[in-house]
Amino acid sequence: MDWEIVIGLEIHTQLATRSKIFSGAATAYGAAPNTQACLVDLGYPGVLPVLNEQVVVMAVKFGLATHCQIAKRSVFARKNYFYPDLPKGYQISQYELPIVHSGYIQIPTSDGALKTIGITRAHLEEDAGKSLHENFHDYSGIDLNRAGTPLLEIVTEPDLRSAAEAGAYMRKIHELVRYLGISDGNMQEGSFRCDANVSVRPVGETKLGTRTELKNLNSFRFVEKAIEVEAERQIELLLDGGSVVQETRLYDPDKNETRPMRSKEEANDYRYFPDPDLLPVVIEPSLIESIRAKLPELPDAKRARFTEQYALSDYDADVLTSSAGLADYFESAAAAARTAPAKLIANWVQGKVIAALNEDGLEISQSKVAPAALGALLDKIADGTLSGKLANDVFDALRTGEGTVDEIIQQRGLKQITDSSAIEQLVAGVIDDHPEQAQQFRDGNEKVIGFLVGQVMKASQGKANPKQVNEVLRRLLLE
Ligand code: ADP
Ligand code: MG
Repeated sequence: MDWEIVIGLEIHTQLATRSKIFSGAATAYGAAPNTQACLVDLGYPGVLPVLNEQVVVMAVKFGLATHCQIAKRSVFARKNYFYPDLPKGYQISQYELPIVHSGYIQIPTSDGALKTIGITRAHLEEDAGKSLHENFHDYSGIDLNRAGTPLLEIVTEPDLRSAAEAGAYMRKIHELVRYLGISDGNMQEGSFRCDANVSVRPVGETKLGTRTELKNLNSFRFVEKAIEVEAERQIELLLDGGSVVQETRLYDPDKNETRPMRSKEEANDYRYFPDPDLLPVVIEPSLIESIRAKLPELPDAKRARFTEQYALSDYDADVLTSSAGLADYFESAAAAARTAPAKLIANWVQGKVIAALNEDGLEISQSKVAPAALGALLDKIADGTLSGKLANDVFDALRTGEGTVDEIIQQRGLKQITDSSAIEQLVAGVIDDHPEQAQQFRDGNEKVIGFLVGQVMKASQGKANPKQVNEVLRRLLLE
């Protein structure tokens, strides 16, 4: 019997506001415990929450980018449960009337086609605090800095059919929230995490199987691995005549297994009711239109434009548009370049530029080589002044701040030798010094040309134009 895996994801993405969703306390990551929690976050009696307008704007941006309906009126609700990191005894969330609902995005599938994934809803809520267990004996610490941090919870329809699709969806949402500038998406810091609902059913069955919910997966790889092993567990269980229990489970990456955490709670366990401290959120069409008018170009549109405008391959366009920052860098370099072709610029951005950033531990916006300098440098390859090898050296000199492209070429005397008589002289010298290899080439050993080109390049200290060297070598050898 063949099995089908069915997955629905709930992604919690932290919204990039400076202050919390219902208080003025800061949201910055990494502060000393309990230094960023005010009376509202601590749940003191008599204090009242005030909605941060920015979270509404951010939720609308997300909704517009995912073909969702924006609710004219949405309502905050109390989700009641007891936990030490939740001092009020309830979390403020949205339940029956979320701010955003009924949309979709498209993800690439393994066969290169696009698949539409329904977005059921995206609602605003506050995060809870954090229990600390390390460095405490016989008791736990509570850090309420995170309490009241704004979250957007994005829920899909059960449309995903494999771990790979779930991973692709999650990457797509991650890319999108960063493009929109509504979240930094930092997964180590918990700004982007995912719960995966997983069930299995025999292929052809239309009823959904009983699902389990895998909590708090905070990397793309863990989401994929957790779904794979959980689906396997369910299939084995069913084949053995057992049945899946609806429950919340935890994924243990060290053992690559899932373990039960608690039985699945039902919505009515939470005693949801509209929060009497907060007014319904009413969004005027004019606000939606003004947000729509300011939306940045989104990843799919940018990708399509890059293949069109710069005649780049799908692969190149994909890599270059993986973040708005990288795409901007490429476009600035392309705008600064006068003759360097887009493909050359694309190669350098994906190769040398990214490698340098990784080495220096920098973001693209902090690149030591400005995009305009890269454009100027690659023009020197295009006009024959520099070989690829020399351009590499100039790039490294730009990185260490040695000066402009022209200054570095001047100071280091790096100009490529393109004078054909100078090259002929170098080539003739190498042929004289290596009669054996020269004869091998004449006898039909094509590979040996690489060795001879290398010798000429060495003799010229890397300055000879390699294409010319190759041509002249072949000509002189066969004369
Ligand atoms: P809850 O209220 O428990 O969070 P929801 O009905 O809101 O449950 O669904 C949460 C997520 O679980 C959604 O992403 C939904 O698509 C997914 N889901 C629901 N039923 C199943 C199922 N049988 N198999 C897989 N995913 C499911
Ligand atoms: Mg849920």
